[in-house]
Amino acid sequence: MTDENWSLIGRTKVDDLYIVAALSGFGSMAACAAGSLCADWVAGGKKPRFAKPLSIARYEDTALMSDIRSRRNKGML
Ligand SMILES: Cc1cc2nc3c(=O)[nH]c(=O)nc-3n(C[C@H](O)[C@H](O)[C@H](O)COP(=O)(O)OP(=O)(O)OC[C@H]3O[C@@H](n4cnc5c(N)ncnc54)[C@H](O)[C@@H]3O)c2cc1C
Repeated sequence: MTDENWSLIGRTKVDDLYIVAALSGFGSMAACAAGSLCADWVAGGKKPRFAKPLSIARYEDTALMSDIRSRRNKGML
């Protein structure tokens, strides 16, 4: 689980290493969509607009991270 309780899905900084991680308390429900999204990363095709925010690359987006961290509700199940 990440501090912000958002999963980590997709490409990493290591070549050919992709992750589906930090599924927190919703991993059973999110498994198929998470796997599909990760497959999009592997295939390198068009990805939905939420792909980057759900990837490890979001930590480089200071505006997004500031917004996420300011939220009081982390969506804890
Ligand atoms: C009490 C509880 C209730 C939940 N209820 C829900 C729910 O209602 N709905 C929902 O969507 N999600 C729910 N979840 C969350 C869901 O179970 C998880 O998000 C999901 O199981 C995560 O899947 P995973 O494959 O990433 O990790 P895991 O299911 O944790 O699998 C990781 C596997 O890796 C193995 N492993 C760990 N370290 C090593 C190692 N060094 N070498 C080899 N193997 C290793 C572990 O033994 C384990 O089998 C619940 C979780 C809990 C704890």
